[in-house]
Amino acid sequence: MHHKIIIIGSGPAGYTAAIYAGRANLSPVLLEGLQPGGQLTITTEVENYPGFAEGIDANELMDQMRQQAERFGTTIMSNICMRCDLSKAPYRLWLDDDTEMTCDALVIATGATAKYLGLDDEKKYMGQGVSACATCDGFFYRKKVVAVVGGGDTACEEANYLSGLASKVYLIVRKSQLRASQIMQDRVLNNPKIEVLFLTNTLGLYGENGVEGAHLVYNKGGEDEREYDLPIDGFFLAIGHKPNSETFLPWVKIDENGYIMTEGDSPRTGIPGVYAAGDVADPHYRQAIIAAASGAKAAMEAEKYLANL
Ligand code: NDP
Repeated sequence: MHHKIIIIGSGPAGYTAAIYAGRANLSPVLLEGLQPGGQLTITTEVENYPGFAEGIDANELMDQMRQQAERFGTTIMSNICMRCDLSKAPYRLWLDDDTEMTCDALVIATGATAKYLGLDDEKKYMGQGVSACATCDGFFYRKKVVAVVGGGDTACEEANYLSGLASKVYLIVRKSQLRASQIMQDRVLNNPKIEVLFLTNTLGLYGENGVEGAHLVYNKGGEDEREYDLPIDGFFLAIGHKPNSETFLPWVKIDENGYIMTEGDSPRTGIPGVYAAGDVADPHYRQAIIAAASGAKAAMEAEKYLANL
């Protein structure tokens, strides 16, 4: 089946590209992917998206974007793009149900996925005390003791969120300071339920039927290096994300962390009619509003490109 424009991804970038492409009469097709609504759907309240003075539930925000995209003629398919051939137009995509689609223009808005430390124990206890999403799994740790790993905004946000449920939250930070924005740092440091363990790394996890604790090391390599066990019930990763760009290799250029490289601050990938928008191409900001804006740019570029074909 051939389409003028296909958008891959259903986060703020994908839906915004669909809204703009739809309003330009391009009849976009949007592939929702593995996580309909994208990463925002695993958070709770969004407080920093303009237009919602009191904040908005993240799922509600994404649902509104979806409806807005559909209102302007977007066809939403619950498929995943497994591989593609972007060597020449029309571009070819193969989906998870083995169907093939072609398109003149493509917007890659596949977002990013949470990173893990790479410990064998993370796999061993996955779903049994290990999670990369506090807002998805925090509920299971009411009145329990949990640890969050990371020192960025995500880690602070998750620690704060978990402190509303758990009896105690440890924040395991490998450096001697947090990387998070000042407001998030203040919230964490002033929260009596959160204890920050600076200069601390995780060596492993232990437990009979699920996580019962973490093996930690304080100040590794330092004179006062000390290994100890910390009893916890839940272990939450919040150490950043990996862009979902593999499907589009070797066609698009990526940086050393896997983010799709675009031309200047445009969403152009260098392949005519192929654009990258949102977190898959954004190593810096990773904000819904910025992803949405880049989705708009991608659709506007695609409209111009298609008009000139
Ligand atoms: P960041 O990359 O900002 O932070 C990752 C954190 O994890 C850092 O503290 C880093 O440590 C630590 N880390 C990385 N790898 C390891 C490891 N192997 N072992 C231990 N610790 C590790 O990612 P975030 O997801 O926190 O944030 C990404 C972007 O999204 C940022 O720009 C952030 O501002 C933004 N954001 C904004 C929010 C908001 O405004 N409400 C909410 C959430 C995110 P180190 O500092 O030592 O490198």
